[in-house]
Amino acid sequence: SYVLVTGATGFIGAHVVDNLLARGFSVRGSTRSKQKGDQMKAARPQYASKLDFVVVEDFTQIGVFDSVMDGIDAVIHVASPFFYDTTNNEQELILPAINGVRSILSASAKSGSKVQRLVMTSSFASVVSPSSTPAPEFTYTAANWNPLTYEEAIDPKSDSVTAYRGSKKFAELAAWEFVKEEKTKFDLVTLCPPMVFGPVVHPVPTVQQLNESNMMLWGVAAGVDPLPVTRVPGWIDARDLAEVHVQALLTPEAGGKRFVAASPEPFSYEYAADIIRDEFDWAKETVTTNYKMSEKPSASYGIDGETVARELGVKYRPFKETVIDLVRQIRGLTI
Ligand code: NDP
Repeated sequence: SYVLVTGATGFIGAHVVDNLLARGFSVRGSTRSKQKGDQMKAARPQYASKLDFVVVEDFTQIGVFDSVMDGIDAVIHVASPFFYDTTNNEQELILPAINGVRSILSASAKSGSKVQRLVMTSSFASVVSPSSTPAPEFTYTAANWNPLTYEEAIDPKSDSVTAYRGSKKFAELAAWEFVKEEKTKFDLVTLCPPMVFGPVVHPVPTVQQLNESNMMLWGVAAGVDPLPVTRVPGWIDARDLAEVHVQALLTPEAGGKRFVAASPEPFSYEYAADIIRDEFDWAKETVTTNYKMSEKPSASYGIDGETVARELGVKYRPFKETVIDLVRQIRGLTI
């Protein structure tokens, strides 16, 4: 089988590519950068005949994916803008996220398409109600939707975190609407991970170009002070999330479902700081002491990562392993 992965040269997308290749699939990655595609291919010589890249510069134009669907049996749509340093939230985050979804879904639905399933990376941002504080015994599940309205998301007074959350919610909704209204031959699975961390397997030329979520974690090692605020106490390792994506593609019963994908182990940046100081001698100099040392953090609410683990047969790595693997790798890039 031949799988198209969008966002293949990004943090999560590259892990999805590697998971598929390791299982023997042929993979076509879409990227905005020919150079990054070439670099990813060069780093995987053993898969030379199984991996190709197509450059799709502006994925928000409907039609751009039409010519790259030849032979494709399934799609994993990972690409979406994820950064907070914006000047126009609607133009840079919200519209590209939604139009990117419409673009890949319409290409997958074109007559002659062999696509049977489309798995989409949504986010816990489209699940969580950021402005309410649930009771500690409350557990978010895939049945929950962020109540944010489109008007709130595009409001110029909204910060980019709110706009990003809107981009994910409204992009995911656009996908569910599309398959319903067009009665597509393929089915849809959406995945809603909270913070995703872990070592990188995509091209990262300099530490400054690290993806947004890993940058938050690496910042702890590099000495940010104060520590970042833990907005959401949930996380998942990128390697585990890649496994979730591929299992979502291969498990027939997953069709038409939405899953929260999160480790049951709560995290906080304070906990990350503790782990990093314990593990790395050099970090005793860099990591701030300006925080309350903690034992393992207790979560302010629950996040249901059990359903996806059970239904798709995936396991979660411990937070400590993820932190150590990322920090060791990125430290290596900086010295
Ligand atoms: P990256 O920034 O590493 O990846 C984003 C990917 O999307 C890149 O491959 C990028 O393409 C592509 N992309 C972004 N904007 C556009 C655009 N306008 N046109 C075409 N392609 C675009 O971040 P992640 O890997 O972390 O994010 C991947 C997905 O996971 C996103 O959908 C994100 O919302 C979601 N997610 C991430 C979480 C996290 O904590 N990291 C948490 C929850 C969800 P290119 O490589 O060509 O630049």
